[in-house]
Amino acid sequence: MNEKKHLTQFIERANAFDNNTKLKLLLFICGAKPNTFVHLRITTNIDDKREFERLLDANNIVYSVSRPKGFEEIIDIKKNIAIWRFTGTWYGYDLFNSLAAKKQFDMYVSLLRKQKHTAADTLAGKLYGYPSCCVKKFTQNHHAAHQSYYAFYKKLHDFDKKFPFISHTPCALICGRTKTLNTKYQRALRKTAPAFLRSYATKRTYTADCIVDSENDFGTFKKKDGHDYTLITTKPLEGKYQLISALSKENRPQGTILRCTITLQYDYALINNAHPTGRLKNFHHERKFTLP
Ligand SMILES: [Zn+2]
Repeated sequence: MNEKKHLTQFIERANAFDNNTKLKLLLFICGAKPNTFVHLRITTNIDDKREFERLLDANNIVYSVSRPKGFEEIIDIKKNIAIWRFTGTWYGYDLFNSLAAKKQFDMYVSLLRKQKHTAADTLAGKLYGYPSCCVKKFTQNHHAAHQSYYAFYKKLHDFDKKFPFISHTPCALICGRTKTLNTKYQRALRKTAPAFLRSYATKRTYTADCIVDSENDFGTFKKKDGHDYTLITTKPLEGKYQLISALSKENRPQGTILRCTITLQYDYALINNAHPTGRLKNFHHERKFTLP
């Protein structure tokens, strides 16, 4: 078996990567994505970092790795308190298909430092293989005020559903180049990582209770006609408390408990049939900033 195959199998199996990271890594390894940035998470899987780097070296992949940083997760929900603890460390990896690409990346970082955001975004688009129409729209829209809150967030959710294999923000739901890229990525995975593709694409549906937490508020809007809430499952689902972004026309106070149908597929979750069954008054988060 060749080293590329070893690396692919390691990524498919390792606990160090979430689904979105696996997607980006596998697309990079098979050559469909030119360069990428991913997180590697360490909890009890302390050998994964060394093994990942050994396999990157064996495949002659150019990369740079960040210093370790701590990450926290919800470990329990007691009455009206979500309890967070540091549960591990993560490293950021920038992976490149050539030394020349790494040099371009260094230029991108220096443009960012100089606050040259448009030039930086354009270069990043090239580095990561994003369609130029989408990059252009993204840079133009950076500071623009949007008409409707609901329409803006609806579109973001629709992008996720329609293009589950890409990682840029499309210029439109009908962007032809995004559609082509999405299909290309799906085909590449079918060929080189079919086991991952199967688990990534499988729909898992649950009935569960969620707590309404805070509301997303990035962007400026002329009409505040909706609410994009973060919902937190009251019990772990697939091994962890899930934080799900859900758009609603209804105003729900923080702490409202919703019984809902949750469908997990690709790297997002869909909420359906949500109806309130109660409320946790003064719902809040408790964090302790100590490393394990
Ligand atoms: Zn586009």
